Amino acid sequence: PVLSVGFVGLGVMGAPMAGHLVAAGHQVTGYDLHAEARNRLAEAGGRAAESVAEAVAGAQVVITMLPADPHVEQVVFGEGGVLDSAKPGTLLVDMSTVRPETSQKVATAAAERGVQALDAPVSGGEAGARQAALSIMVGGDEADFARAKPLFDVLGKTIVHVGPSGAGQVVKAANQLVVGGIYALVSEAIVLLEASGVDAKAGLDVLAGGLAANRVLDLKRESMVARQFQPGFRIDLHHKDMGIVLAAARQAEVALPMGGFVAQLVQAARSMGFGSLDHSALLKVVERFSGR
Ligand code: NAD
Repeated sequence: PVLSVGFVGLGVMGAPMAGHLVAAGHQVTGYDLHAEARNRLAEAGGRAAESVAEAVAGAQVVITMLPADPHVEQVVFGEGGVLDSAKPGTLLVDMSTVRPETSQKVATAAAERGVQALDAPVSGGEAGARQAALSIMVGGDEADFARAKPLFDVLGKTIVHVGPSGAGQVVKAANQLVVGGIYALVSEAIVLLEASGVDAKAGLDVLAGGLAANRVLDLKRESMVARQFQPGFRIDLHHKDMGIVLAAARQAEVALPMGGFVAQLVQAARSMGFGSLDHSALLKVVERFSGR
């Protein structure tokens, strides 16, 4: 069935995602702070709204794809925001990466207005968004997941309902923990190989075929050895995500010593001025530890 979708946040991820929904025949009304982003949606066949309220009015499903917690809180709870404007029965799907607590707060406040909410963060990066090949991890009620599933099917390949409200964000936090750790260790491997006079490319090619194989090695080993760090996924966003990881760990009362270390590495990258580089630029921090 054709759904009317309000889409707020038409950035690196949101723009191609909204475009796919338009191409699949859904009626998409989008809003972003940047006029340029709104115009791009209109050119792609969607409708550009002049406010959150306009994007949400008449929508059966509202999707938000915003940078971080404060933006989601502003768009959802702010004056003229989603909860001010959505009619009862609207489904709010936040696909941003935020704290599990924020998702639970959104879901509780939404329920008070008769609005249902899902947290549905994604993995797969800009390429995954462009190719409609995202992994989508969803927290919330099963019935609401079923309602949103036709839209998720347009955007992603691996789509899993992982538990109640907030659970999607916990899974995304686990994802970012593992990805950050892999970048840190691949960086250390490169430094070790190069400092030992071994060809790093040849060394990593072997690693990619053995038990150390992983997607970071598959996709990024050449660009890392060549020191190409244009984003991709910015250090600044991974910094935000490591904050979510450690907050979730504190909430769950668990110790994540490796996670703490990775968070400090990402902080160091930001402090050194690499915030707008790709997260593979963790290599630059690891190199500096050895004076290289
Ligand atoms: P982005 O900064 O490119 O896009 C966010 C958009 O939201 C911007 O266009 C901005 O203008 C808009 N925005 C901000 N505040 C707004 C408001 N109050 N009202 C309307 N629009 C507003 O970010 P992105 O890379 O698309 O990431 C979005 C989310 O997806 C983040 O939570 C990020 O962590 C997550 N994510 C990103 C990637 C990636 O590779 N970029 C991968 C997976 C998940």
